[in-house]
Amino acid sequence: MTQEKKISVKKPAYLQNDILADEIREMMKSKNKLFFNIMGSIGAGKTFLLERIAEKLSPYFRIFVINGDIATTIDADRIAKKGVDTVQINTGGGCHLNAKLIKNELDKINVDDYDIFFTENVGNLICPAAWDVGAQKNIVVVSITEGEYVIKKHPIIFKGAQIAVINKCDLDGLGFDSQVLVEDAKKIKSNMDVLCTSAKQITGIDELIASLGIKIQ
Ligand code: MG
Ligand code: ZN
Repeated sequence: MTQEKKISVKKPAYLQNDILADEIREMMKSKNKLFFNIMGSIGAGKTFLLERIAEKLSPYFRIFVINGDIATTIDADRIAKKGVDTVQINTGGGCHLNAKLIKNELDKINVDDYDIFFTENVGNLICPAAWDVGAQKNIVVVSITEGEYVIKKHPIIFKGAQIAVINKCDLDGLGFDSQVLVEDAKKIKSNMDVLCTSAKQITGIDELIASLGIKIQ
């Protein structure tokens, strides 16, 4: 026991995180659950997209959303109105979720009570990239209002993602260009799904759900 502890203490925090994240992924897989990690800057539209996803899926699936936020419960409260269960993790200044934080929340519920799990990660495009939460797919959301270089300037988070979502595409052509962002995302990772959405106008949401591999029967 003592020896085991010694070894694990020596491991860097991010390596311990990766081990726990793999355990979460395996557990979800063995129980036939889906788990998605949504990342993106503050104001990209993560919560709004989750509300739209929840509206479409909650009649058919039992959904649990873990919201990461530095200080408030605003996002979890919004999503809870859409027929899903939510919990807010206040990171108390921490700027990303990690596997331990997710595990703590999963230990408080019965995982078997749900079909699909989402995290809304803390809003930034830097460090959430380095902290695996154990999801099967990572989704990065940017909005076209974040500027034409937003993807170019944050390659690491896109390299680790399976889906890139360009949101607020209802503003496409009104001084903003979604195509530049789509191309930048594809350049970073050619096999990544890249989708244009508008949570406001409810466009691209069905495509996003399909990209998650979810079929509404
Ligand atoms: Mg939010
Ligand atoms: Zn951080």
